[in-house]
Amino acid sequence: MLPTIAPIQHLSGNTNSQQRISALLAVAAVMLAAIMAACSSTPTKNTSTPQPHDTVALETGGTAAATLPSYGQPQPYDPPGSTITTSRAIQPVSHTVRDFTDAGVWFGSNFAGARLGPVFSTSDSDFVAVVKPENAPINNSPWYAFKVWSRARRTIRLHLTYDGGSHRYTPAISNDGVHWRQLESSRVQRERTTGTATIWLDVSRDTLWVSARQPYTTDAVRSWEDSLSRLPFVRLDVIGTSTQGRPLRRLTIGEGKEGEVLIIGRQHPPEVTGAWALENFVEALTAQTPLAQAFRQRFTVQVVALVNPDGVDGGHWRHNAGGVDLNRDWFAFNQPETRAVRDAFLGSISNPNNVLFGLDFHSTWGDIFYTLDSTVTVRDPLFTERWIGRIEESVPGFTARIEPSDLESPIFKSWFVRQFGAPAVTYEMGEAATRQRAHTIGTAAAQQMMTMMVEKRAQ
Ligand SMILES: [Zn+2]
Repeated sequence: MLPTIAPIQHLSGNTNSQQRISALLAVAAVMLAAIMAACSSTPTKNTSTPQPHDTVALETGGTAAATLPSYGQPQPYDPPGSTITTSRAIQPVSHTVRDFTDAGVWFGSNFAGARLGPVFSTSDSDFVAVVKPENAPINNSPWYAFKVWSRARRTIRLHLTYDGGSHRYTPAISNDGVHWRQLESSRVQRERTTGTATIWLDVSRDTLWVSARQPYTTDAVRSWEDSLSRLPFVRLDVIGTSTQGRPLRRLTIGEGKEGEVLIIGRQHPPEVTGAWALENFVEALTAQTPLAQAFRQRFTVQVVALVNPDGVDGGHWRHNAGGVDLNRDWFAFNQPETRAVRDAFLGSISNPNNVLFGLDFHSTWGDIFYTLDSTVTVRDPLFTERWIGRIEESVPGFTARIEPSDLESPIFKSWFVRQFGAPAVTYEMGEAATRQRAHTIGTAAAQQMMTMMVEKRAQ
């Protein structure tokens, strides 16, 4: 259902709202058509049936399209060519200010995580922004983030259009770049037929930050890692560098010899809630509780929380700076990020049989555990099922959606299971989850994993 367009009456000089909306959309459609025609990176449209393959299914609608909102062009999860992991050129974000001096409005994208393409004005209060991915083909994770300010305090209307994608993320907004809140639903109108959206923003001389999701940049992740590394039982090291030379960092928690757990996250830049869940999971492992202390004495956990720092700070929809989906590179290892993580894990593990569990954190439409299907043989095959059941029992109202798959997709989970023969899960946190929700699920997931391992090894 479309939200009521309540804020429209606030637009200055707007005496006939519906006619102006129609006119604006007509102008936007013409502009967009021209932009798309001129854009060499327009991806091949594909309407084939998506395969129910691990993370394939839900992140962009995929097989669950019947129960999820759909916008514009049908977008399969992996468009043709997007699983090829040899490097391709990317389009960096222009850091220039989009200057509408006559209207007294400016749009900026000069910060880590920003993404904004060309902006056009159709009146002093009406603007059209083009959101473009880093390259194509790419699946539909249309990240955007920008700043906007104006000479005079007023409400502007911004039409968000997507080059090779369709509207997905309801904006988060902030007045200081630190504290974020969701833009009210009455200020967002999705246009299902065109895959675009119109948003209403109150602007002034003070900067307003607008982002697909609350940003969570490389610097913020580093601060978190630094703070954890001050604990006596946590070690921090650099395992390599990204395509653009950013350090790839690993936390190692505990000193136990009875088994190892390997965790990675943030292969896909927009997936902030998955990063939060990972953070809370890891914090639970470092807690000063009898359970966590016992766990750390007997087990060791390695964590690469941010596998794609270039993509995060570049405001990418999905890829690394090599223009590649890192979570399709775990067979070919064409990218420095996947190679670094692989080599760091393999270099630190002398006995593959001592690796007990692997976890890869992501975000998608809803909470999903991508597990292993019955074709896959691992040690302790019931571990994951029991673990998920215990999380459900410990979080009132939480029901896990479980999607088993084989090892054919070149994702981290497949590599991990082939390498170590232990259970692994791709965990998807609902992308609209709050910080509190991520904390609840992430903490419970860690506590249940620790309990199971401590109990099992005590037998
Ligand atoms: Zn993902």
